[in-house]
Amino acid sequence: MSSAAAAKTAEFETIVVETNPVACDGGDAGLGHPRVYLNMGHDRHVVCPYCSRTYVLAEGVKVGGGH
Ligand SMILES: [Zn+2]
Repeated sequence: MSSAAAAKTAEFETIVVETNPVACDGGDAGLGHPRVYLNMGHDRHVVCPYCSRTYVLAEGVKVGGGH
């Protein structure tokens, strides 16, 4: 059915999150790394320098800074 998903194995994951900064430790794929906190700032997305996952802030979530 969804052969499109299988064809994307070469790409890095994009993960939608609702928190900023987001904590990344490499996930559960066995390729973990020390936990780091990634701040998206006003770009609403950030790429983890360890595992190259892209974190995207979910729509409707306010970017912090004006509390
Ligand atoms: Zn990571």
